Amino acid sequence: MRILVTGAGGFIGHHLVKRLVSEGHWVRGVDLKEPEYETSRADEFERLDLRKFDNCLLATRGRIDQVYNLAADMGGIGFISANHADIARNNTLINVHMLEASRLQSVRRFLFSSSACVYAQSKQTDTDVTPLREEDAYPAEPEPGYGWEKLYAEQLCLYFARDYRLDTRIVRFHNVYGPLGTYEGGREKAPAAVCRKVALAEPDGTIEIWGDGEQTRSFMYIDDCVEGLLRIMRSDFCEPLNLGNDRLITINGLVDLVAKIAGKRLSKKHDLSKPQGVRGRNSDNKLLLKVLGWEPSVSLEEGLATTYGWIEEELRAAERIVGREIAVRV
Ligand code: NAD
Repeated sequence: MRILVTGAGGFIGHHLVKRLVSEGHWVRGVDLKEPEYETSRADEFERLDLRKFDNCLLATRGRIDQVYNLAADMGGIGFISANHADIARNNTLINVHMLEASRLQSVRRFLFSSSACVYAQSKQTDTDVTPLREEDAYPAEPEPGYGWEKLYAEQLCLYFARDYRLDTRIVRFHNVYGPLGTYEGGREKAPAAVCRKVALAEPDGTIEIWGDGEQTRSFMYIDDCVEGLLRIMRSDFCEPLNLGNDRLITINGLVDLVAKIAGKRLSKKHDLSKPQGVRGRNSDNKLLLKVLGWEPSVSLEEGLATTYGWIEEELRAAERIVGREIAVRV
């Protein structure tokens, strides 16, 4: 097939391109930037700003069968809490223009990458959160800025499907992590930030944690994410679907796991002034299992060991860790 991946210079997009190319598809990758840590494997890689409609027409030109629309202005909780207007405007433009261009170019199937940030905040006030089912996005009360835009773009996909017969898929990712993900600069997510902090800490040092660390999340390894994306794209299911791991862990627990992988005994310093997002969030995978007969399965221990190993090696190559033992892998 001829496949377009937008956001192909980003974390999930780059991994997805590698997988699609390895399966023999012809892939065009589009992004504002090239992948950060490796060269793209896409057959064609074009730098285009997808907020502009003409660029979306260019991106979808030449009989594209499938679009994985992953391009978005996004980052960790610090970034998305501080940039509501930029994020909502940029992502609205990308999604509206990509849907319209795909319709005009007769794309056969269009997948939109939504987020667990669409879920109603009042259902995420407890660390012992009930896993979120797809219907828990309504009545709508999503994360300000980023979450509102994702929820609106989901609806837009459903309207395009109903009124224009554009075949759409909607995936709600829950915290994806793994090698080749941004690990510093402000856009990194919790697992990458924790790995970086642990790697840079002295063996008996202290690391800073945002909030009291008792907030809970679930984390999905990138290989599961890519596998799930391909399966959802292939399925006949058009409504929003969770794609996440359903093992709940506190951020303090996540730090302990990474410290164990690194072989360090670290103290934690909690900074209550920093944003921490909702109190608890987990994925309910019943519908995913029903639709696909599959769910993410890579354990946090295994995924974090690989991710930590990659981040530590990056920091070592940049000579920011000098002369310490290589981490113990579990
Ligand atoms: P990422 O930031 O690594 O990738 C997004 C890419 O989109 C970036 O490379 C960025 O340059 C590109 N982009 C931004 N604005 C653009 C524009 N105007 N034109 C062209 N490209 C543009 O993020 P990711 O983790 O790979 O996320 C991919 C998708 O999955 C996004 O839609 C994101 O909202 C969604 N998502 C990710 C997670 C996660 O945990 N990683 C969770 C929920 C949802």
